[in-house]
Amino acid sequence: MPAERLGRTVTEVQRDADVPLWEHPEWRDGFPWLVQGVTGVGAAAEPFDLALFGDGRTGEVMGRWQALGRATGAMRVVHGYQVHGAAVCFHSEETPGLHVSPDTDGHVSATPGVLLTVSVADCVPISLVDPELRAVALLHGGWRGIAAGILERGIRVLEERLSARPADLRVHLGPAICSECYEVGPEVYRGLGLPEPSRPERMDLRAHVAERALRAGVGEDGITVSKHCTRCGGSPFFSHRGGRSERQVAVLGLSP
Ligand SMILES: [Zn+2]
Repeated sequence: MPAERLGRTVTEVQRDADVPLWEHPEWRDGFPWLVQGVTGVGAAAEPFDLALFGDGRTGEVMGRWQALGRATGAMRVVHGYQVHGAAVCFHSEETPGLHVSPDTDGHVSATPGVLLTVSVADCVPISLVDPELRAVALLHGGWRGIAAGILERGIRVLEERLSARPADLRVHLGPAICSECYEVGPEVYRGLGLPEPSRPERMDLRAHVAERALRAGVGEDGITVSKHCTRCGGSPFFSHRGGRSERQVAVLGLSP
C-alpha cells in the first residue's frame, strides 16, 4: 500500500484578470500582499505561451510577458536561463524591466514589486513563503534540479540572506506531471537517492519534494500540493510530455 502523501491538496483557481493566472486560493485569501500563481493555456485560439527564447516568436511572446507584468503590478520581472541545476539568485535590485539571470533555476527576494518567475511544463514549480518576514523563493523543480539539491539550496538562501527559519515556511508544489503520467527509468530513482527499480516505474515527483521539504525542517502543516496534473484530467496547463512545446510560468513576489 502506498504511503499517505505528505501535504494538503489544493486546487488553484483562475483569477479574474487579463492573463490566465491560476492562484492558490488559501494564499490569495490569507496573504493579500502576495502575488502568486501559475499561468495557464488561456484561449485555445491564442495560447498564452511564455517560452522566452523560442523559435522566432520573441516579439509575440514578449507582449505576453509585458501583460503578465501589468496584471501583477510588478515593477521588475526576474527569470533565468534554466539549466536543471541548483543555482539560486537573490534579488533586491528594483530597476524596472525584465531581468534574465544566467544558469539559474531558482530565485529569492523580499523586495516589493519584484516578481520571480520560472518556466515549467511538467516540472514542479516550488513556491516558498515566509509570511512573517514576507520573504519568498520560487524554484524550478525538474528531477535533475531536485537531485542537485535546488530545494535545499533555496531554503538555505532564505536562511542566509533573510534569516528565515525552515519551520516558518509555507511550501506549495504547483501544477506538475502526476505519477500516473510520469514513468521514468532507474536513473531517475538513482539520481534522487531512491531505491532503484529494475524497469521503468512511475514517479510522484511532488511527493518526493514534499518529503525533502519535511527533512529540511518545514512543518507538514505548511506543505500544500496542487491537485492539477499538467498532462491529464483536462488540464488548463501546457504539458511537455503531452506534446506541447509552449511554456507556462509560475510567479511569486510581494505586491508593490
Ligand atoms: Zn496526470
